[in-house]
Amino acid sequence: MRLRSGAELIRGASSEKAQGSMKRKLLLGKRDDTLRAKKKVAVEKPSVILLDIDGTTTPSSFVSNVLFPFVSENITTFLRTQKDGTGFERFREIVEAAEADSGAEPAKLSLPMVAECVSKLTAQRSALPLLKTLQGEVYAWGYSTGELKGAVFEDVEVLLKLCQGKNILAATYSSGSVNAQKLLFSHAQSVSSSGKAHAAEVVDLTPLISEYFDGTVGSKIDSSSYRTIAELLESNAKDYPRKIDNGAKIWFISDSEAEVDACNASGRMTGILIDRNLGQSGSMHDVIGNFQPIITALHQA
Ligand SMILES: [Mg+2]
Repeated sequence: MRLRSGAELIRGASSEKAQGSMKRKLLLGKRDDTLRAKKKVAVEKPSVILLDIDGTTTPSSFVSNVLFPFVSENITTFLRTQKDGTGFERFREIVEAAEADSGAEPAKLSLPMVAECVSKLTAQRSALPLLKTLQGEVYAWGYSTGELKGAVFEDVEVLLKLCQGKNILAATYSSGSVNAQKLLFSHAQSVSSSGKAHAAEVVDLTPLISEYFDGTVGSKIDSSSYRTIAELLESNAKDYPRKIDNGAKIWFISDSEAEVDACNASGRMTGILIDRNLGQSGSMHDVIGNFQPIITALHQA
């Protein structure tokens, strides 16, 4: 098992306790004799909690089973709604990326050409910035028609409200565009751990989120991205509801081991690994199964 500075540990996790994290203790701090003695240590309240989205606040299946298919199935209809009179020139980069291997330079872009390339790159989970922007536009259109609703785990709103009450700034970091993130949380539909929707209505969680970061700050598995985010949070402090001091304590919660490792390697944040399917991933990391241990720890902070 790899040890991480500022390690976060849930003791006694086992597969049959997948949803029973209420019994566990969130122990934050150095992984030292104090933790081995299984004593609960005082939690130092963070100034910021940074949340991954896919697999952390939202079922991973939402992106692959809902969002991406929506783009592929509706891209042609969406493109026909574009009335800016500029044709598809602004999508040329997408076509060029899709046809990079052939080296062909499309002489004239067409709707079917753009639609096909968007579907292909979406299926490949391309992180091309222009594609992300276009996907965000399609999502906005879908949310506006009510066809799309943003699936958010039921404990997300609880955590965000607690952060607000505890004067902790909540932020998100996802490879999805900032616009897509805002759309998701402004049309949030509460879902269970299995992804089942609790109710048809949606709520706007964006008043509880102060900042959003996307791929423009860098790759999520690059430690420099987390240093950049920390610096941005500090430099933008005047715009936030609370002051973020230099060297502020920041927690990053993600379902990706690579992201948590990159975060911890940055030396600027404490990475916490979450596995909504705890016990099924075979992870060698210590993990939490949902936000409840965080919520419990913050109540005690
Ligand atoms: Mg994730």
